[in-house]
Amino acid sequence: MPSTKSECIKVVARCRPLSTTEINEQRKSIVSIVPPTSVKVNEDKAFVLDQVFGPDSTQENVFDTVAKPIVDAVLNGYNGTIFAYGQTGSGKTFTMDGSVDLPGIMPRTFEYIASQVATQSVGCQYVLYLSFLEIYNEEIIDLLVKGQNKVSKLEIKESKERGIYVNGLGQHVVTGMQDMMKKLQLGKKNRKVGETKMNSESSRSHSILTLTIVCVEGAVENAAAAAAAIVDRQRVGGPGAGGAVKKAAGGRVSVGKLNLVDLAGSERTKKTGAEGDRLKEGIAINKSLSALGNVMSILSEGKTSTVVPYRDSKLTRLLQDSLGGNSKTVMLANIGPADWNSEEILGTLKFAQRAR
Ligand code: ADP
Ligand code: MG
Repeated sequence: MPSTKSECIKVVARCRPLSTTEINEQRKSIVSIVPPTSVKVNEDKAFVLDQVFGPDSTQENVFDTVAKPIVDAVLNGYNGTIFAYGQTGSGKTFTMDGSVDLPGIMPRTFEYIASQVATQSVGCQYVLYLSFLEIYNEEIIDLLVKGQNKVSKLEIKESKERGIYVNGLGQHVVTGMQDMMKKLQLGKKNRKVGETKMNSESSRSHSILTLTIVCVEGAVENAAAAAAAIVDRQRVGGPGAGGAVKKAAGGRVSVGKLNLVDLAGSERTKKTGAEGDRLKEGIAINKSLSALGNVMSILSEGKTSTVVPYRDSKLTRLLQDSLGGNSKTVMLANIGPADWNSEEILGTLKFAQRAR
């Protein structure tokens, strides 16, 4: 039976506090968060979502309420995706990554998975894979190529055995929290290098960190080999990769995939002034974000008869097997509260409401 929207797609908003600059410039907050589910803009326009987080929300609270249920599902063999959406400066990276003192969803997820894997592995051997890529101007770049001195662009492929996968994308076995953090740091460093080489900014690209969690049941001697047989064969996944139970090396194997996505800034490219590279970027971003909005909207309506336009962008195509079906998805709509962003705040909340 197809799952309903309430079970599988959650849309939440998080409003950051006014920044010091905004306070100094005497900007007013035009956003009121009315827990648990409403946001008001300018005291008149109201939006109702699955959950709302105000300027005082903690990283811990956001992780516990929004991310943990998805991570739990992934540990049980489902696919899950957490998106951070919003204009540049709204708190996407703060929410997903955070800082050393205020760790966000990614480090908390790593820690939680590492602890669950260590304590819950009764009758199950877990093997974890991590990949990290960015999509810039509709091109896919592996962020975990060591000493990257050229930017290599990867292709999405599909085959019967593998399903949808990124050809040549590194799948790295990780064994604990530190391992995962190291990969995150390497990816972030490479992203910076790539930015300079490609004359881009991280706010203009989407980044996707994917954890593939393979659980090999039973007394399988070489769990790693059993896991590799599956993950290497179907890299990013494909029909049956997540949620499926497979036989490998004599054991039952389930695979769950978690995608942590920091989207490109949703602000409109200024109609005047944008030309050349910036215009090209803007077109690519609009294309993938609107494709994502369309896909989410159709999925949340729960109509099984409508064709879902996954192929309209690299982003949606890549995440096809992690959106819809039994996959769990959270769309985190990030907003800043200041009056000068009125249009972007409304744009983000409209996007959020439509995705729900
Ligand atoms: P984005 O990734 O959407 O461009 P950032 O995450 O970089 O935005 O956030 C912009 C600035 O606001 C950063 O300095 C960040 O530390 C700060 N910030 C964002 N969200 C919060 C929050 N909830 N609480 C405190 N500071 C925040
Ligand atoms: Mg950012």
